[in-house]
Amino acid sequence: MENLNAGLYLHVPFCLRKCPYCDFYSIPVKISTSLEKNYLNALNFELTLLKSFLEEKFDIKKISFITFYAGGGTPSLLSPHFYENLFGFLAKNFEFSPEELTLEANPETLTLEKTKAFYKAGFNRISLGVQSFSQKGLKFLGRLHSVKDNLKALDYILKAGFKNFSLDFIFGWKGQGEKTLEKEILKALEFKPTHLSFYELTLEKGTPFYQTFKGEKYWIEDKKLIKFYKLIENTLEAYGYERYEISNYAFPKFKCKHNLIYWKIKPYLGLGPSAVSRIENLRWENPKNFNHYLNTLLKEFKLPLKIVESLDNYELAKEYIFMGLRLKEGVSLNVLKEKFNYNIPKVKLDILIKKKVIEKKKERIRLTFEGKLLHNQVTSFLWESLCN
Ligand code: SF4
Repeated sequence: MENLNAGLYLHVPFCLRKCPYCDFYSIPVKISTSLEKNYLNALNFELTLLKSFLEEKFDIKKISFITFYAGGGTPSLLSPHFYENLFGFLAKNFEFSPEELTLEANPETLTLEKTKAFYKAGFNRISLGVQSFSQKGLKFLGRLHSVKDNLKALDYILKAGFKNFSLDFIFGWKGQGEKTLEKEILKALEFKPTHLSFYELTLEKGTPFYQTFKGEKYWIEDKKLIKFYKLIENTLEAYGYERYEISNYAFPKFKCKHNLIYWKIKPYLGLGPSAVSRIENLRWENPKNFNHYLNTLLKEFKLPLKIVESLDNYELAKEYIFMGLRLKEGVSLNVLKEKFNYNIPKVKLDILIKKKVIEKKKERIRLTFEGKLLHNQVTSFLWESLCN
């Protein structure tokens, strides 16, 4: 491969405080100029080493980044100046004119001035973690911001000139009823976001919530959850959003280009602790430890990455099914055959069609509404059905 067109992800491993449900890698810190400087140095060095690594391993001569996504952690804790510097380095050393540059932001970290400066630095998309428009919900989730902060942040985003922004929600928290959820959705729609994400609250092992609730969301039954999913889908579709991925809704032309790279298994590079990269059939991961990450780069002058997998055709086919089923466009049986040399027997597909969890149109299969609720189970069934 001579030229690589890839998405670029930056993990910002800093938060003001840890939320009790969160299992993303981040550390609670107070941001200082020296911390930003150290991180920036490490990132620049990581990029330089990655360039040589890619050239050696894959014979890549030219790297173009087609999307940029700052996720976390809390990327909006860093100063706009930090990103200006990083973008400057990227433009100098790579082809860097991404169509989409997303910043994940937490409401309490934004001011009008800062939001304007993020825009000026080059970001053209913000994903705002409002999580809930209910004060009760924010309290349960242990968030540091209030509903008022959400509204203020939205005002800044609009005033700063962002035309493309997403609102992130968590639903299924204790005490949330259908009426509350509906109110929250309608409140969000007043701002006409181009994109919305709705994630069901999950209790992840190792989080304080998992311990507190002993791994069980005893306050919500499946029936109620299904109603929530229906309410979200029906309301958003009525307002012109497309459920293009299990948890993501967008106006036409506003699907998240960067996340589509993951779902469509295209090449991406990840920078920073815990970030994952994927080129061809190789996947690697950085350590989930900020100091280890810094020391390996700045003291040992080495890439901190660990190759986690070199995927064979069977693994690639499994990954294609898992990701493809998340998307509205589903899985192409032709691609499965031609690219990975795997089939799914008709009898197996018929079982799922009869159960109304998938539908088949020509050579594509995709999940129905019910199927989306059972994504993992359907995926496992299809994996077990794969044959050459
Ligand atoms: S702010 Fe986001 S990344 Fe940080 S702890 Fe909370 S949910 Fe996790």
